[in-house]
Amino acid sequence: MQVLVINCGSSSVKYQLIKLPSCEKVLLGKIEIDPADNTAHETAIRALIEETQQHQIDAIGHRVVHGGNEFSEPVTVTDAVIDSIEKHSADAPLHNPFNLLGIQLAQHQWPQIPHIAVFDTAFHAGMPKRASSYAINPAVADQHRVRRFGFHGTSHQYVAQLAADHLKTPVDELRTVTLHLGNGASACAVEYGRSVETSMGMTPLEGLVMGTRSGDIDAGAVLSLLRSGAYQVSELDELLNRQSGLAGLSGIGNDLREIETSAEQGDESAQLAINVFAHRARKYIGAYAAIMGGLDAIVFTGGIGENSATMRRRIAQRLEFLGVRLSDDLNRNARPATDQPVVEISEPHSRVRVLAVRTDEGLMIARQTARIAAAENQRNSPRTIPIAVSARHLHLTAETFAKLFGPEATPTKYKDISQPGQYACEEKVNLIGPRNRIDGVRLLGPLRRVDQIEIARTDEFRLGIDAPIRDSGKVEGSAPITLEGPYGTVELTEGLICARRHIHMHPDDAKDFSVQDREIVEVAITGGPRDLAFGDVLVRVNENYKLEMHIDTDEGNAAELTRGSAGELMVDTVESACAVLKKSRG
Ligand code: AMP
Repeated sequence: MQVLVINCGSSSVKYQLIKLPSCEKVLLGKIEIDPADNTAHETAIRALIEETQQHQIDAIGHRVVHGGNEFSEPVTVTDAVIDSIEKHSADAPLHNPFNLLGIQLAQHQWPQIPHIAVFDTAFHAGMPKRASSYAINPAVADQHRVRRFGFHGTSHQYVAQLAADHLKTPVDELRTVTLHLGNGASACAVEYGRSVETSMGMTPLEGLVMGTRSGDIDAGAVLSLLRSGAYQVSELDELLNRQSGLAGLSGIGNDLREIETSAEQGDESAQLAINVFAHRARKYIGAYAAIMGGLDAIVFTGGIGENSATMRRRIAQRLEFLGVRLSDDLNRNARPATDQPVVEISEPHSRVRVLAVRTDEGLMIARQTARIAAAENQRNSPRTIPIAVSARHLHLTAETFAKLFGPEATPTKYKDISQPGQYACEEKVNLIGPRNRIDGVRLLGPLRRVDQIEIARTDEFRLGIDAPIRDSGKVEGSAPITLEGPYGTVELTEGLICARRHIHMHPDDAKDFSVQDREIVEVAITGGPRDLAFGDVLVRVNENYKLEMHIDTDEGNAAELTRGSAGELMVDTVESACAVLKKSRG
């Protein structure tokens, strides 16, 4: 599938056409906007349409800067979503109106393709109130929406996930400070996968030193400048947003490369700019470690974070007390790139791992767009899997069967069951446990190479045995059980299991669902009296299988399933999202 990502800003329209799941960038473009031309955005979008005309587009992702605290996830663009983006335009006048214009022009051009809005604020929407509140009168704060929203969320979330993948630790087990240091700059405390603090606030002006923005400044200083009469509001806006930061301090401009060169040549203003920038970033790392009660990783990203080894070294200085040990060699040579987006730059014994990560907001928007578009599609035409609830049963070897039913006996077919070649037998066996017995458990044929008795958790309590959850066939070291048949009794040392829930799939089904043998998936049961999502469902693919999910009676009862029930395979990977959208295209 191919996702078109549109970032329609005030000064440029950027776009990328991204192929998924391969992540290949098919097209990449940027059209500058002439601020004096009222129709410039329309002209730019028309140029974009022209450029993409020959290409397949399955979904369109729109970057939207401000979604307030309303959107914690990307959403399909509806009239209500457009109203909300419009409402937040007052808070982000330089961004939202243009983002919205891009959406409306693209919707007009591609009315049949799903449009998804991906918000910079979404990742921070769940920030705790203590982090999102300014200490001012709450009534005033509410009335004027004076609260901290945070921005750059797409980038923070993306690099935190890449870092977790690199560290081979689930993101929800890590406390990470991500530093997005570009022309705009912000820090984020990502505690167990969630943004719990970030340095940008109500607007993207708060926090770190940026290319031309001041970052943190005493509100009293702003009042004082206004009161002095030397500055009008618009002039203050210009001073703090466009004439401050690295550019303001250095007097050179906002490009750190030039500032670093001048600093080396002894320029004191350039040196001060670098020092203030690094000091501020280091201050935030310490603060965020304190807020999270510890720190496992620091991630540098953005133009400066990815490219300036000297700035990374300065920022990481004096953080040894936290367990941060940067490797000068690794840091100096680190060049995160598309083919190797994560480079570790800490010493091997550093308790806190330090990484330089190449951010890719376009790719993140494309992936999120695919996921949301597929989920929407799924809601409209779900990919269902029939569910069979397996009552307790057993599979026996010929040897055990003979001991239970006599040397001359053979299993007698009672009826076929759903999986080809499998059948229920007339024969039944009694299970005897230390506490209790369960009589009349049915044998399934044909006979197998190992004895396997499958019971539910409730049965375990009745028998007084703790049976492990196992895949079918994996009985080694499982629980012992005594079997009683009409001819004799057998004491098995292993063979009693609680079967792991699984889905039988023919290779054609696996291709259809875009899953592989032994993949772990999630299946949702909806529309019944007790909706339930089953995680840890094992996919088993075999030429001889028919599509069916098998669960035990406890699981069936928990979801109150009736005969003929079905579940839906949930869309949780980009690969499955692609499969859904591909199928919907026919
Ligand atoms: P971004 O907004 O993420 O594109 O970051 C842009 C900024 O990254 C530029 O203004 C530069 O200051 C900085 N930058 C890019 N490459 C380097 C480099 N090799 N060394 C220092 N700073 C760099």
